[in-house]
Amino acid sequence: MAFKQTAESINVVAPSSDHPISRWWSKETIAIVTGANKGIGFELVRRLAELGLTVILTARDAVRGLKAVEILKNEGLHVQFFCLDVSDPNSIKTFVSWFQEAFGVLDILINNAAISFNNIYENSVEEAETVIRTNFYGPKMLTEALLPLFRRSSTAARILNISSRLGLLDKLRNSKLKEMLLDEENLSETQIEGMVNLFLENVKSGTWKSQGWPKVWTDYAVSKLALNAYSRVLAKRYKGHDISVNCFCPGFTQTSMTGGKGTHSASAVAEVGARLALLPADELLTGKFYVVGSSNAIYSKL
Ligand code: NDP
Repeated sequence: MAFKQTAESINVVAPSSDHPISRWWSKETIAIVTGANKGIGFELVRRLAELGLTVILTARDAVRGLKAVEILKNEGLHVQFFCLDVSDPNSIKTFVSWFQEAFGVLDILINNAAISFNNIYENSVEEAETVIRTNFYGPKMLTEALLPLFRRSSTAARILNISSRLGLLDKLRNSKLKEMLLDEENLSETQIEGMVNLFLENVKSGTWKSQGWPKVWTDYAVSKLALNAYSRVLAKRYKGHDISVNCFCPGFTQTSMTGGKGTHSASAVAEVGARLALLPADELLTGKFYVVGSSNAIYSKL
């Protein structure tokens, strides 16, 4: 692991793709990926399966999910499938019961599923509730339900939340909220949920434009802002308990979410995401927000 000072911050640099990560995992290493019937989630499943882990591909729609499984099967990759709508507590409950029965323990959870109802240059908040429920409460509820099942071992269990730069603190212009989010010592889940509720109230009252929320894809950005903050709270809680919690922004990627536009392909981004999820225990940090830099090096941004 190399440390380097840049203009932005002190960045922790993870090895780039030309430095293969030493293999600590095996077929017994179990990974769950949400929203994996297409896009980045699908490519993450493909990469992890290629690397020899046991992977559970989940999707909210069985037909779309099984179609994805079939594509991988035709490539000689065998993954498990289960239906999971992360916005639905009952679906999470059913999935977790099945998972517990079928596998018992978990090593890696990749919270990838997310939604945006905006085209690239739009900023409607009409679907704000669904966006917040799916992108923030979804991963939060699933993580909470799966936490007791993580294998505590020297290799360390990992939670990787696929997030977005749009939810970084520098996008928030409300100084009171910013101060709250920066106070990591005291930041709590209740405060984060309070922030999200405030946003939804602002949406309802039609005042959201003047309250200092992020300007681009506002509902989506708030959902990721909350996810980033929750990840830090969780990371702090589990520090020293063999569970790492990090966020990863893939960058502008060609998927349905961007209408196919983007500077990276989903497979290239998944290659980096998989490397991050599989960092050896002694290089694995927690509570970081990772982005992809030049030569696909991964660095953390404050
Ligand atoms: P896609 O739209 O291609 O994929 C999103 C996936 O999430 C789909 O499989 C979708 O399923 C699934 N999904 C949506 N809602 C739910 C739900 N309630 N329960 C379960 N699954 C659900 O987008 P990407 O691959 O681009 O997005 C993957 C991740 O990357 C997201 O977290 C996104 O925020 C993040 N990201 C993407 C960027 C980009 O430029 N593409 C940039 C920064 C972050 P279905 O097919 O059924 O709709």
